[in-house]
Amino acid sequence: MSKHIQAVRGMNDILPDVTPAWRYLEGTVRGLFDAYGYQEIRMPIVESTELFKRSIGEVTDIVEKEMYTFEDRNGDMLTLRPEGTAGCVRAGIQNGLLHNQTQRLWYSGPMFRHERPQKGRYRQFHQIGVETFGLAGPDIDAELILMSARLWKQLGLADAVELQLNSLGSSESRTAYRAILVEYLWHHADQLDEDSQRRLNSNPLRVLDSKNPQMQALIAAAPKLSDHLDAASREHFEQLCALLDAAGVRYTINPCLVRGLDYYSKTVFEWVTDKLGAQGTVCAGGRFDGLVEQLGGRGTPAMGFAMGVERLIALLDQGGIPQQDYRPHAYLVLLGEQAQREGLLLAERLRDAVPGLRIETHCGGGSFKSQFKKADRSGAPLALILGEEECQQGRVGIKPLRDDGEQQQMSHGEAAEWLASYMQQTND
Ligand code: ATP
Ligand code: MG
Repeated sequence: MSKHIQAVRGMNDILPDVTPAWRYLEGTVRGLFDAYGYQEIRMPIVESTELFKRSIGEVTDIVEKEMYTFEDRNGDMLTLRPEGTAGCVRAGIQNGLLHNQTQRLWYSGPMFRHERPQKGRYRQFHQIGVETFGLAGPDIDAELILMSARLWKQLGLADAVELQLNSLGSSESRTAYRAILVEYLWHHADQLDEDSQRRLNSNPLRVLDSKNPQMQALIAAAPKLSDHLDAASREHFEQLCALLDAAGVRYTINPCLVRGLDYYSKTVFEWVTDKLGAQGTVCAGGRFDGLVEQLGGRGTPAMGFAMGVERLIALLDQGGIPQQDYRPHAYLVLLGEQAQREGLLLAERLRDAVPGLRIETHCGGGSFKSQFKKADRSGAPLALILGEEECQQGRVGIKPLRDDGEQQQMSHGEAAEWLASYMQQTND
């Protein structure tokens, strides 16, 4: 026997027992974005490697060691997208969506990062993201945060997550702060772990982001970016906080929140949970006013966030997902050759007559008993029964499967009416 081929490590099948949870989350999110006037955009999964190098930054974890990069047959260097912002900005510039207009966009789909797979961290994972363009003020920052807060409420996760907030200031104020931070870190170079020593030269702000417990005291005592913000960024941040206060959104200002990517400026935020172990960030975002220009467009303020779908599903799993019913209303049992021939057509006619009706038609023959077993396993509350006699009389049987209701015989037209009113009564 030949060896089974396995999925690529860190890339998961999402099996039918969990897809209802995914559909519940995706459906809720779609409704939410509609309610705020956001439009969907779909970008390719593969982009030029150069796009990510220029946007995410050469000295970030993603670009240094996490990208799936390969050479195309014609020699171009391509990368499976590790995140959505770069592609969204590229698409916006290329299609003229950003100049002299505002955009509120959302996307969802798989992302790829070559990380060590563990709970909540995969090599193919999914994000749902939002990007806005052409809006510079703290009002849109607040809208994005309010929108995410509403989502947690709708999903029943409001008590599971908390908001952390910081401002990274302008790139000038960050450069000035960087020098101050580097000097401090140099003074304590002996206390830096290996990663941080490397970052000290390449990307010192990332040292603040270290999760190493041994580094926390050093990080806590470090000079704060918030003490070195430029006046405009400080005012922006204060106004955002005031808007959140007015809306009753609770937050913690975390001066060590710097985010992993180079392109952020001013507002950054994360929604974190303590219910998922080490992989606690479920949604992260911020302002990236310089990125459009950096990628060749005209200077355009921008702000966005991305949610990790696997982590949200894991959280939903803990709280119980409302029973979304995708199971059939009726399982159509077909007894005898004539019924097998006519069954598919009857199911088609009933679907024509009753919009939204879900029928699973039995295929492949078999005994009354084995078909009823399958009807039971399908989860359908009703069996429709088409036997020889029913075929000859142009009728069909309906039998409730979840209670001891009697089987009834009726014409096809009556069956359609019966099913429609059944769906109305069960509110489905
Ligand atoms: P982390 O600190 O957990 O590595 P990150 O800063 O690299 O996160 P972002 O690039 O901000 O993550 O991506 C936004 C969200 O996508 C994260 O908050 C997380 O929920 C999710 N995410 C990121 N990487 C992964 C992954 N490898 N597997 C599953 N989800 C992920
Ligand atoms: Mg990461």
